[in-house]
Amino acid sequence: MKITSRFAPSPTGPLHLGHAYSALLAHDLAVAAGGTFLLRIEDIDQSRARPEWEEQIYKDLSWLGLSWPEPVMRQSDRLGAYRDALNSLEEMGVTYPCSCSRKDIQLAASAPQEGSAPVYGPDGLVYPGTCRNAAFNVGVPNAPAIRLHMAKAIDLIDTKSLSYHETGSGKHQVMSINLADALTRVGDIVLARRDMGTSYHLSVVIDDAAQNVTTVVRGEDLAEATQIHVILQRLLSLPTPQYHHHRLIRDDAGKRLAKRDDARALAKFREDGLSPQHIRKMVGLSD
Ligand code: GLU
Repeated sequence: MKITSRFAPSPTGPLHLGHAYSALLAHDLAVAAGGTFLLRIEDIDQSRARPEWEEQIYKDLSWLGLSWPEPVMRQSDRLGAYRDALNSLEEMGVTYPCSCSRKDIQLAASAPQEGSAPVYGPDGLVYPGTCRNAAFNVGVPNAPAIRLHMAKAIDLIDTKSLSYHETGSGKHQVMSINLADALTRVGDIVLARRDMGTSYHLSVVIDDAAQNVTTVVRGEDLAEATQIHVILQRLLSLPTPQYHHHRLIRDDAGKRLAKRDDARALAKFREDGLSPQHIRKMVGLSD
């Protein structure tokens, strides 16, 4: 198989050691197999994306010794493709508009009549379904979000083949999607926010397919989201790539690195005179 991997950062802050690990791993995997490493800029959240962070991404990755084909795919240029996919899902009848605010969701999920403790899934609090059956909400124009009706979605797909190949942690395993979990621990995720016209889940699935990505390399914090991605791939008749979820790089206290941890920013290490080889060593990769 000819490998195409990708690194897909959001330009919302400086890249840190965790990003370096992800990018280097994706790059090394592709190059070792004579394949292609792609870079994709995930800038659908225009309220947080900044051109200066995008510039910094190119600079940091080039400094690490990575290269990629141009032009780089930028998600803010792809809104038409996301709209088409959303229309297809709407035509299948597996979506509904949702006008709940974050606060509404919190209140509904913790209401005593729900009877059980709120459940947290890949996107945080699992949506309690308030707008799912609300007759008043049918066709609400300008609803702030469009959600996936998970139960209807599962009914529409061939659930026998609902799995993906995981190659992280040196193993190769077939991971089955647990349908009961998809209903209760994932639920009706947001497919599109009105202000963005899409969501992380929808755009990542569309773009991995559009770029013929065969191997998705990303942190294990995103492993839970993969079940959503596989379900969307089946609904939209898109291929499912292999997934390689890697360990997270943590700080000295064992805390996962975040963009706000400027002290761990690659640019900072570069200014301090470290070399790309140092960075490779720090994240546990060989030269
Ligand atoms: N854009 C996402 C991030 O920066 C990564 C998405 C992915 O690799 O699937 O966390």
